[in-house]
Amino acid sequence: MLEGIHFSDVTPYLVAILGLLVLWQYYQLQIMAGRILAVDIFDRSGIRMYIYVTPDDDSRCEVCARAHGRIFLPSQVAKNGFSPLDGTCQRSIPCLGVLVGLYGAWLEARAVVERVRAAKKGGFSLSPEDLRALVNGQWEQSISADTDRLGIHMIEAVCYEKINQAVSIAGYRYVISEVKEVRHLLLLVPAYLRLSLLLVRSGATKDAREVIERFERRFPVKKRGPHFPTVEQRTAMKIRKTYLTENQPAPPTSVAV
Ligand SMILES: [Zn+2]
Repeated sequence: MLEGIHFSDVTPYLVAILGLLVLWQYYQLQIMAGRILAVDIFDRSGIRMYIYVTPDDDSRCEVCARAHGRIFLPSQVAKNGFSPLDGTCQRSIPCLGVLVGLYGAWLEARAVVERVRAAKKGGFSLSPEDLRALVNGQWEQSISADTDRLGIHMIEAVCYEKINQAVSIAGYRYVISEVKEVRHLLLLVPAYLRLSLLLVRSGATKDAREVIERFERRFPVKKRGPHFPTVEQRTAMKIRKTYLTENQPAPPTSVAV
């Protein structure tokens, strides 16, 4: 029966909802006007540090290799003109690299967060061994497991390409199938590129072709969107597909993005 419901009962809720809408609108306007810095948004997104990783590939340049394992605070990443590199990439087709955001609540990650907070700007990076130790920590038992799962699989995949290809292939596959949030979109193209390359190199022709065709469906040539592949990245995939079709004796290495 509805007789018991009066306007006076629902009015406080309606007022509260209206208040929230006004507040939200106010924040939007403040952000657009530049009065609330992007850094505030970063700090509230559950990210406490960023790790830059680049696959250990023969085509990787020195500048990008040096940046592998570099740790940044969200406030550094949010700055205008931020680059994880301390120079310019030396390849005409830029080396592949990804900036992975983590909350990092497990033991090893907490130590890294503390170190980067204490370090001076850009003065801190993890060795490949420390990076592997980080992702091999007990992250699944930590409160940040759900927030960090996708990022950890991505870091693990990048770090294990030359050590354990099966780990890398599983990691990239996980990223491709599980990316749903906007903040993870930037991992998708790198995951497709590396996965297809690893599969081509290991001779898994059928799997490689499936991954490339999935990539083509996910990123149609005529469409544009945030974190879509570059012209060079599309070309790399095309070359791989042609190679698979023609079944040449050696995998292509010239375009290893
Ligand atoms: Zn480079």
